[in-house]
Amino acid sequence: MASGKINVSVENIFPLIKKFLYSDHEIFLRELISNATDATLKLKHLTSIGEAKVEYGNPIIEVKVDKEKKKLHIIDQGIGMTEEEVKKYINEVAFSGAEEFLDKYKESGKDAGIIGHFGLGFYSAFMVAEKVEIITKSYQDAPSVHWSCDGSPEFQLKKGKKSERGTEIILHIADDSTEFLEDGRIRELLTKYNKFMPIPIKFGTKTETLPKPEGAKEDDPAPTQEVDDIVNNPNPAWTKKPADLKEEDYKKFYKELYPMQFEEPLFNIHLNVDYPFNLTGILYFPKLTNDLNIQKDRIQLYQNQVFVTDNVEGIVPEFLTMLRGVIDSPDIPLNVSRSYLQADGAVKKIASYISKKVADKLNSLFKKDRKDFENKWNDIKVVIEYGMLSDEKFFEKAEKFALYPSVDGTSYTFEELEAKIKDNQTDKDDKLVILYASDKEAQHSYIDAAKAKGFEVLLLDSPIVAHLIQKLETSKEKISFARVDADHVDNLIKKEDTAISKLSDDEKEKLKGEIEKVVQEKGFTIQMEAMDSKAQPFIITEPEFMRRMKDMQQTGGGMFGMGNMPDMFNLIVNTNHELVGEILNTKTSKKRERLINQSLDLARLSKGLLKGKELTSFINRSYEMIK
Ligand code: ADP
Repeated sequence: MASGKINVSVENIFPLIKKFLYSDHEIFLRELISNATDATLKLKHLTSIGEAKVEYGNPIIEVKVDKEKKKLHIIDQGIGMTEEEVKKYINEVAFSGAEEFLDKYKESGKDAGIIGHFGLGFYSAFMVAEKVEIITKSYQDAPSVHWSCDGSPEFQLKKGKKSERGTEIILHIADDSTEFLEDGRIRELLTKYNKFMPIPIKFGTKTETLPKPEGAKEDDPAPTQEVDDIVNNPNPAWTKKPADLKEEDYKKFYKELYPMQFEEPLFNIHLNVDYPFNLTGILYFPKLTNDLNIQKDRIQLYQNQVFVTDNVEGIVPEFLTMLRGVIDSPDIPLNVSRSYLQADGAVKKIASYISKKVADKLNSLFKKDRKDFENKWNDIKVVIEYGMLSDEKFFEKAEKFALYPSVDGTSYTFEELEAKIKDNQTDKDDKLVILYASDKEAQHSYIDAAKAKGFEVLLLDSPIVAHLIQKLETSKEKISFARVDADHVDNLIKKEDTAISKLSDDEKEKLKGEIEKVVQEKGFTIQMEAMDSKAQPFIITEPEFMRRMKDMQQTGGGMFGMGNMPDMFNLIVNTNHELVGEILNTKTSKKRERLINQSLDLARLSKGLLKGKELTSFINRSYEMIK
């Protein structure tokens, strides 16, 4: 029996650790299982190179709860430690690590969230235990060792009674940590942190049903047997080669990752690099709704198959955080704050690699099966459009596969769209005008009017589309976008002025005055236009610029400092329409007023602006008229 004092300058390091790391206590189990895994993998390596002359076999790690004696055991069949090694690795290495950690922690401040990422190592056991024992036997021919420590810098070392190779860690759980004596809690932690660790982890046993023996009767119970309950999958899909995986395997793994997800992913991207950094993983494109806020199942970050976090902000480009899946990289520094992470060169490279891989995958999907890609577009467009907005390189790559669907369901790439509409939709200033709608139903009459002119109308309805349009206009030459209700159809794409007006300027002036009398208080700006006599007499429009800025403001960004912008509507009066002529020539002002009001209401109805009391009185008035 030997005892000694652990060589640390902090007199009693454990209360400190406990206090500092209060919220992250649960990571002790991850740390101890990581050590057990390392010890097993080291043995595997040593046997494979002939250094260790022992049978490697099929080692497992076992976790056992002894609720009565308030003990938690973590048992491995790895390399174990000799007495010298315990002295060196536990008394010196582990505890100097503790000191270093505390120093760093004091420096970096209490940046919540980073602590759990830090490899705390063996002594994190003292966050939940009042006493810790190590019983270990080295793979080398050396006697077993029994180390124990009650949290003071004092430790005891004696001969152990272990006959098999490996290490058993026994935690005497402290009174304030008894939650870790509950099977349910331990299972929860094993599922959270160790689900994909490379060595099988046993936690209790489970009953397995065997096939009935030949000739068994119908109602004979099927035989059962007790087997080890292995809680992890030591060979998760992302650690395999893409060539060895089928579509089904990827889908199965998705279910494993997100057991509560019932919807299948649209497709996946297998990441695999080893230079200039190490990274593997699988990303999935889920079906996304337009609601960007609901985000429960997120990308999980692992380091060598150990779960670290599901907050990948800064590591994965922001627009891809909407995806799901896993990323595993030993090269991501975790003991630093997020702001540092974002400035880190290696991490930046990782983010741009991921973005490039995603773009390449999208491009190959588009090329391989365009129809299928078009069908998926609605579910993936938000991610792609967001990427185009936030990542210049992605924007360039997306040129090849970003789609612009028309209201009739034809999907164009930008290049195809340009070719298709060039002749008909170039205005007199040589600008290509791209027309779009954001809602096929609500903007129906405007879409109809544009189609009557042979114009192509896109359906752009994702929430960030105003930003994207703005970006496209500034990054491409001589194009502009206009929503179909931004102006009357002849003004949307201005051609040489060929309109012949049926009314003289004087008549127009007079008419405008009459209409103004009736509608001014309703907040419309009146615009007299000599249009096609078949175009509607009254049309309400919403100028593109103001509306787009408002849209942009609603989804973040846009023009700053504009406060809550008011809606702005114009009333276009088609002076060539028969009805408008009638309004001008009506003798009684009462009838004129009624014609104007009725026409205005029809225009408002068409724009979806007629509501409430005004809608009711419109309906009543209309019944009166058809009586
Ligand atoms: P780290 O694992 O980061 O090196 P730890 O404090 O967790 O730091 O452990 C210190 C050392 O103790 C390890 O490097 C290892 O050599 C040894 N060790 C810890 N746990 C085990 C174990 N279960 N089997 C064998 N050696 C172990």
